[in-house]
Amino acid sequence: MENHQLELPLGLSDDTHAAPVSTASEALAPAPPLPCRAQAMTVPNEQNSAQKRADALHGALTADTGVDIRLRITNNTSTMMSLRYEQASGRAIVGLHHMFLDAPEPIRKALGTWIQRPRTKSAGKKLEAFIAERRHLIETKTSRRIVLRTKGQFVDLSTLYDEVNGAEFDGTIETPITWGRMPTRRLRRSIRFGSFTPDDNLIRIHPYLDQAFVPLYFIRYIVFHEMLHAHMGIEEGPTGRRRIHPPAFRRREEKYGDYERAIAWMNNEANLRRLLRAPRK
Ligand SMILES: [Zn+2]
Repeated sequence: MENHQLELPLGLSDDTHAAPVSTASEALAPAPPLPCRAQAMTVPNEQNSAQKRADALHGALTADTGVDIRLRITNNTSTMMSLRYEQASGRAIVGLHHMFLDAPEPIRKALGTWIQRPRTKSAGKKLEAFIAERRHLIETKTSRRIVLRTKGQFVDLSTLYDEVNGAEFDGTIETPITWGRMPTRRLRRSIRFGSFTPDDNLIRIHPYLDQAFVPLYFIRYIVFHEMLHAHMGIEEGPTGRRRIHPPAFRRREEKYGDYERAIAWMNNEANLRRLLRAPRK
C-alpha cells in the first residue's frame, strides 16, 4: 500500500507527512504556495498517544530543569539523544529517541541532569544503560522491507542528501532517502513532490522529478524540506495537536538559501503542467 501515496494524491496513510503538493486545475488557479494536505488529515489514535507522552515528557523535563526546552522525538537508528543550546534564546533543542517516551522517573531525572550539565558522568551512565536495555526498540524496518533507490537517470539523491545534510543539519540526519516508485497511472492534477514517513523512517522523492528539465536546486529544496521534517520529528503543540508545518518549521524553511527560487519554480504553472505530462519511459 505504501507506494499508493505517490499515485493517489488523497490516498496517503494518515501518518505520512507530506510534502509540497501542487495542483494544476483547469481553472488555472495559481498553485498554492506550499500546501501540505497532511495538515487536514486526521491524526490516528496511536499518534495522539505518542503526542500525549511527548507532551508529558516535555512538561516533566521543563519542570525538572527550569530550562526552556524544545523537544523533538526521533526514530533515529544511531543518535538516541542530542542536545544543543540556541545562542540567542538560550533554549535547549533536545532530540530524544521515542524509547524515552516511556522512561521511568529515574531516567527522566537523569535526562534533566544531562540537559543542565551534559557531562555529568552518573547521569550519562544511567542513560547509556537505559538505551542498551531498549535496543530492540531501535528500528531497522527500512532495511528489511524497502529497497532504497537513490540513483536516478539524471539525479543521484544521495549526493543531494549528503550536501544538504552537511550544509543544513551538521550531518545529523539519519533518515534514508529513496526515489519513490513510478506511478502506474498517469498523474492528472497533482503531484506530491516528496514525503517523510515517520513509521518507515523514510524520505521518498517523486520519480517525476528525475527529469532533465527539473532544476537541481528545486529537487535539492524538496530533499531539504523532507529532511527538515525528519529533523523536527513530532512537534509538540501547546494544544496537543500535531502540527505538520509549525511556525518554527516555516521560519527555518524560509532561511533556506534557494527557498525563493524553488517556490517560484514550483508556482510556475508551466513547470507543473510539464511535470504532470509524465516523463520519459
Ligand atoms: Zn511538508
